[in-house]
Amino acid sequence: MTETFDAVVIGGGPAGSTAAADLARNGRSVLLLDRAGRIKPCGGAIPPVCVREFAIPDSQIVARATGARIVSPTAKEADMPITGGYVGMVDREGFDEYLRERAADAGAERRTGTFDKVGRDPDGVAVVHYKTTDGPAQVRARAIIGSVTCGLPQLGQPSDLWCESCKGIPVVSATRRASAMLSTSVSPSLRIWVA
Ligand SMILES: Cc1cc2nc3c(=O)[nH]c(=O)nc-3n(C[C@H](O)[C@H](O)[C@H](O)COP(=O)(O)OP(=O)(O)OC[C@H]3O[C@@H](n4cnc5c(N)ncnc54)[C@H](O)[C@@H]3O)c2cc1C
Repeated sequence: MTETFDAVVIGGGPAGSTAAADLARNGRSVLLLDRAGRIKPCGGAIPPVCVREFAIPDSQIVARATGARIVSPTAKEADMPITGGYVGMVDREGFDEYLRERAADAGAERRTGTFDKVGRDPDGVAVVHYKTTDGPAQVRARAIIGSVTCGLPQLGQPSDLWCESCKGIPVVSATRRASAMLSTSVSPSLRIWVA
């Protein structure tokens, strides 16, 4: 008999992990499905309101930026002070794993696998097919949340036009000013944040 979850969340980035944690805290059975081995290329800048609203602990903030600088492709620079506080910088490798573990602690089932397709059982319940290192697997889902930035065409989500930006190269260090470098010479995606 195939397992049935109230919700299957596909994608264990910040959005998926947060959705899974919230659902689990509200008593729903949840599967958080994430493919392994990819660290999101991201500047990791999080405004204080998000730090508060999503209860991000101090231990996840690796730097506090109090100013930002935009560097254009022609090397023009513009400074942007951050008034009234700081922007917290996180390291996505540890941050995403922290959020996935937080979802698991809240009661979500965590599995590593790559989403494949959705089918439907004769009773109308959706069946999520995914691939693991041990082979194909499937679960039934009363609801599906597709939480993959680049979109899941199998769920009717459009491919993200910014998908190319995923090739950006993030650098995080403990300085107080974050710089956005807009240049294909430093990143194939045009944009790179240096914190
Ligand atoms: C270069 C760059 C810099 C950025 N800088 C910032 C910044 O400074 N501050 C900020 O707030 N935002 C920034 N962003 C945006 C931010 O990274 C995204 O908004 C955020 O990661 C979106 O989170 P998410 O959970 O929706 O998706 P993601 O973080 O993309 O997570 C999606 C997850 O789904 C998984 N997945 C993908 N396909 C499958 C599949 N078929 N099956 C199972 N799992 C799958 C992936 O492995 C991943 O874990 C930046 C983005 C880029 C590209």
